Amino acid sequence: MSKTLRLILGDQLNPQHPWFNEISDKVEYVMIEARSETDYVVHHVQKILGIFAAMRRFSDQLRVQGHRVSYIRLGDKSNRGSIKDNLLAMLEEGAYDRFEYQLLDEWRVDEMLQSLCAEIRQESSAYDTEHFYTERSFLAGFFSGKKQTLMESFYRALRKAEGVLMDGESPVTGQWNYDASNRKKLPKEISIPRPFVFHHDVSDILQELESSGVKSIGKVKAKEFIWPLDRKDALALLDHFVNELLPLFGDYQDAMTDRDWSLFHSRLSFALNLKMLSPREIVDRVEEAWRSDPDRVHISQAEGFIRQILGWREYMRGIYWWKMPEYAKLNYFDHQRELPRWYWTGETKMSCLRTAINQSLEHAYAHHIQRLMLTGNFALLAGCDPDEVDHWYLGIYIDAFDWVEITNTRGMSQFADGGIVGTKPYVSSASYIHKMSDHCTGCHYDHKKKTGENACPFNPLYWHFHHRHREKLESNPRIGMIYRTWDKMSPDTKNVYLEQAEKYLSEIDYL
Ligand code: FAD
Repeated sequence: MSKTLRLILGDQLNPQHPWFNEISDKVEYVMIEARSETDYVVHHVQKILGIFAAMRRFSDQLRVQGHRVSYIRLGDKSNRGSIKDNLLAMLEEGAYDRFEYQLLDEWRVDEMLQSLCAEIRQESSAYDTEHFYTERSFLAGFFSGKKQTLMESFYRALRKAEGVLMDGESPVTGQWNYDASNRKKLPKEISIPRPFVFHHDVSDILQELESSGVKSIGKVKAKEFIWPLDRKDALALLDHFVNELLPLFGDYQDAMTDRDWSLFHSRLSFALNLKMLSPREIVDRVEEAWRSDPDRVHISQAEGFIRQILGWREYMRGIYWWKMPEYAKLNYFDHQRELPRWYWTGETKMSCLRTAINQSLEHAYAHHIQRLMLTGNFALLAGCDPDEVDHWYLGIYIDAFDWVEITNTRGMSQFADGGIVGTKPYVSSASYIHKMSDHCTGCHYDHKKKTGENACPFNPLYWHFHHRHREKLESNPRIGMIYRTWDKMSPDTKNVYLEQAEKYLSEIDYL
């Protein structure tokens, strides 16, 4: 009897994929917990636990439906370590005459599977994951021959093509983008809903990780694991978001606070990146929430959210498949500094970074502006090596997968691509952080002080960054103003800034 082996990866947990429409004893699925995946970077313990626990559930659910599934656990004696070696062994020993897989999202794994397919005797074929709106090669074609690769033009084209928030060829309200109303500071009196979390017991998997010697960072309460582990959980998280958080999502999308770690963010990225949910169903659900009750969910909230998924997420994937593998090596500013030690401990006197890093260690999560304007901003101002920055982000966040992490980190956050993703570096001094957060109150450093004792490090580093990269940045029309301000300062003032910045850089591990 001819038999097919089908691979399901840890980020391909979509029970609605057409593969599963038919139950056949001629098809065997294989899922592998591999050391090659736990070890390619040091991950947050919750990320490894979450992916393995979700994979185990997925395989159980497939079996209950009648599918044949081979599941190779990390601690199994027969486990050969890498996905490739496990597959090679199965394909050599088993009576399979076909090998099938779903298209990969990561360059690294894609290359590995292509080389495997070239080695094996069986015929092989790849299926679409049917997850994304656009194909891998879409963006290259979309921007072909164009100088600018703006997310906004891609986003508008996709809104039109998909008819999302559209009235014929025009946006429903006549306005494409509500970005300007998505930048409010959190009022003191606002009540923040308690984060909706799960309480799964994953302590058995934690034990396996420990006994296998897998290295990790971060903390976990393994008997009260907070992340969604299957589609049912993911749908409950989506319900919670739409019912409780969406009405204020857009307003406070950029706000930061010591009071809470999740605010009005959906925390859907983990479920989404594992494909438990599809971007389309989330976008449709949010549009429907606005259409059915626009007084409860204002268009600025709905558009603000849809832009993240239909716009940014899809765009970042397009950039990845267009620009890899070169993208992973870009270092426009030639930054070489090691990341400060406190990125791994949270032990810094800067209150904003302490909050962002500690919550990342605690929950494997920080929201977008924390990643961009706190940890990312500091690393860029300080001149940290984008390789180091990439590894940190890829390791620490529960939702971090190369295709979306690297474009966000190297591109949006570190400007290491020289302006493919962003039109200017996302950097700021303390005034932005103070404006958008309550972190500065009670901080060891003074956000108003530019130099001298206890001056907030973001202030002198901001000028140091612009000064040292003048050649690369001053012709950028979005930055010119900054150099005009700098040029108006007296040489003495400039020197004091630069000396203060040098001092801070020399003691960076102790800031
Ligand atoms: P929400 O604020 O609720 O947003 C909704 C959804 O929009 C997210 O779930 C996500 O799927 C999507 N989204 C929002 N912004 C982006 C973006 N810039 N790129 C892609 N999708 C976006 N996102 C990841 O999924 N994985 C990563 O590894 C990752 N690394 C990042 C690294 C840096 C330096 C930065 C600045 C951003 C990174 N992001 C990454 C994007 C974004 O920060 C996260 O998607 C978001 O914080 C996830 O939390 P949430 O689900 O609560 O998002």
